[in-house]
Amino acid sequence: MVFLLTACATTPISDRQALILIPLSQEIALGKQAYQQTLKDQKVSENTHLNQVLQRVGRRIVEVSDMPKLDWEFRLIESEEKNAFALPGGKVAVYTGMLRICKNEAGLATVLSHEIAHVIARHGAQRMSQQMLLSGAMMGASISLRNNTQRNIILGALGLGVMYGITLPFSRGDEGEADQIGLVYMAKAGYDPEEAIRFWQRFSQAKGDKGPPEWASTHPADKTRIAGLKTYLSRAKYKYQNVKLQHGLGETFNLPAEKTDKEEPEKPKPVPGVSVEALTP
Ligand SMILES: [Zn+2]
Repeated sequence: MVFLLTACATTPISDRQALILIPLSQEIALGKQAYQQTLKDQKVSENTHLNQVLQRVGRRIVEVSDMPKLDWEFRLIESEEKNAFALPGGKVAVYTGMLRICKNEAGLATVLSHEIAHVIARHGAQRMSQQMLLSGAMMGASISLRNNTQRNIILGALGLGVMYGITLPFSRGDEGEADQIGLVYMAKAGYDPEEAIRFWQRFSQAKGDKGPPEWASTHPADKTRIAGLKTYLSRAKYKYQNVKLQHGLGETFNLPAEKTDKEEPEKPKPVPGVSVEALTP
């Protein structure tokens, strides 16, 4: 009983009780480790201006978030992939390809606030807890990225699964919650929350053009998502109207033309048996 009571955490904004069996300190350590491992294979963008914009938007959101004191870090990765992720401990990365869909700062704020919300709601730790209970893996001090079974569970749980060929998307509930929290953060940071709806419409369009972007394979159907966002919009708009400094849509990005001739590196195939949920309705 005491164990379960201490394992319950209340999620801000959505006010939901969540079962988390992993101490925050360990979750943060794993997030940092996974971040370093992931960035090792990626080319960090040297575009000074876009990097400044990313830092600016990220900073504004974390300052109004429920965990402003985490060691937040924002990296821009040079790649046409439509992708972004955030890891426990506040380690965030956005791919330059995603900026095309973001189109402007408010679009980027939509992506960042959603990712930041996954971190603050501790969705990674919740999924690790569920997966470890399911697989009977040992928890607590012994979990590590060095153990292969645990590594797949951890990377999948942190939302990095697709990159490593593990199909383990966030649950529909996690996604809805990240949208709900993200929309409020975005508005409190001074970005017009209505742009979130337009961002998801653009994202949906981009999928239609060229198969699903990587980010989409871990995210639920757009119609469901847009309908959900609309139900949270009035609360976010109220926050936005009361914020001291409104940035509206912020700056519109001026991006070089997309390189289409470049060959995409081959992705690892999903590991059979590791997939636990399918999100497409
Ligand atoms: Zn998500």
